Amino acid sequence: MALVNENYLKLAAGYFFPEISRRVNAFAAERPDLAKEIIRCGIGDVTEPLPPSAIRAMHAATDELANRATFKGYGPGTGYESVRAAIAEGDFRSRGIPVADDEIFLSDGSKCDCGNILEILAAGNRVAVTDPVYPAYVDANVMFGNTGAALAGGGYEGIVYISCTEENGFLPEVPDERAPAPDIIYLCSPNNPTGTVMDRPLVEAWVAYALRHRAIIFWDAAYECFNRGGAPKSIYEIPGARECAVEFRSFSKSGGFTGVRCGYTVLPKSLHAYTRTGEAVALHPLWTRRWNTRSNNVSYAVQRGAEALYTPEGKREIAALVDFYMGNARVLLEGCRQLGWKTWGGDNAPYVWCKVPDGSDSWSFFERLLREARVVTTPGAGFGRCGEGYFRISAFNSRANVEEVVRRLGAVACAV
Ligand SMILES: *Cc1c(COP(=O)(O)O)cnc(C)c1O
Repeated sequence: MALVNENYLKLAAGYFFPEISRRVNAFAAERPDLAKEIIRCGIGDVTEPLPPSAIRAMHAATDELANRATFKGYGPGTGYESVRAAIAEGDFRSRGIPVADDEIFLSDGSKCDCGNILEILAAGNRVAVTDPVYPAYVDANVMFGNTGAALAGGGYEGIVYISCTEENGFLPEVPDERAPAPDIIYLCSPNNPTGTVMDRPLVEAWVAYALRHRAIIFWDAAYECFNRGGAPKSIYEIPGARECAVEFRSFSKSGGFTGVRCGYTVLPKSLHAYTRTGEAVALHPLWTRRWNTRSNNVSYAVQRGAEALYTPEGKREIAALVDFYMGNARVLLEGCRQLGWKTWGGDNAPYVWCKVPDGSDSWSFFERLLREARVVTTPGAGFGRCGEGYFRISAFNSRANVEEVVRRLGAVACAV
């Protein structure tokens, strides 16, 4: 008798982006006359085409595959050497951060990596996440067996939720030393959904905490390219992080690779986890083994496309994309502020986190913005209990749409 993975049965109904789509589709069906006016600032997906240097590299790679002399079959499980070297040099060593080429592990994206990494750690580790949080971390841990049942008020038994609220500026504070310490801590900065950025003292405090408790930080830096304010982009800017952190990076938001699929993890050779009897085991050989056994990584053309982002033109093209989205974020941020709405983020992140201005709950205000402004946002409650009463606006859109969104929010604000 084949037994099912019963952890999947614990998952609370639906991933919440499908619920947003369901509501948008319902409105569009009800009011077909207004359907084409809908502007989507909900899901955090990029809108601009790929940088030309990535496109050229992918075309050239495809031509290589068309020719017997340059054809490539299975690639290395952890990614092509030249790509790993370009990343280690471009994102780390050139910025004074010591990361070796073979500490870079290519992948099909960091959403995948945030879950896959659990395979090399024991089931039953105590996992901490922020609240609000990117839902994929939590669901992956539910599937893996690191949690108990879904709780009536949202969340799962066994997960440590670190409250990020208006009082602490939506930034994760290091837990009280008297509380049982988590074994794994997911941190995301610049943050999705709140757009807030952890400053250096805060990241240092987390590194010290993790070292003290022999915990591992999973540092999700998917939005590091938007962080231009001087706060740490990589956790390895902090001394000691090579002993307690894995970093996840993605080309999704920087290079517009959400559909192409490519990202990477950094796993330092000095990072250890422990056996039940307390012996330290280096994780780097395990992660290498995991990739070589389970995958041959993403396609040659995609890896070449990612590598091209590290050329001088590639870097310029990414900087222009980031400038564009951050210009959108500024329009949204200033628009919301002029309406007197309370906001966070939006200055070093492509998300503006806003307090619901009419005192209603976040799904009610979502419906109101959908119906009265034909604007799709993301209700904060979908990211966790502490997200209730807030909503996220994404800056991934055209400039014209973003300007129109601000005008329409103004019309709703007048009615508030
Ligand atoms: C978009 C995003 C990612 C990137 O995911 P990919 O799988 O690389 O597309 C990672 N983490 C967060 C929080 C994100 O919002």
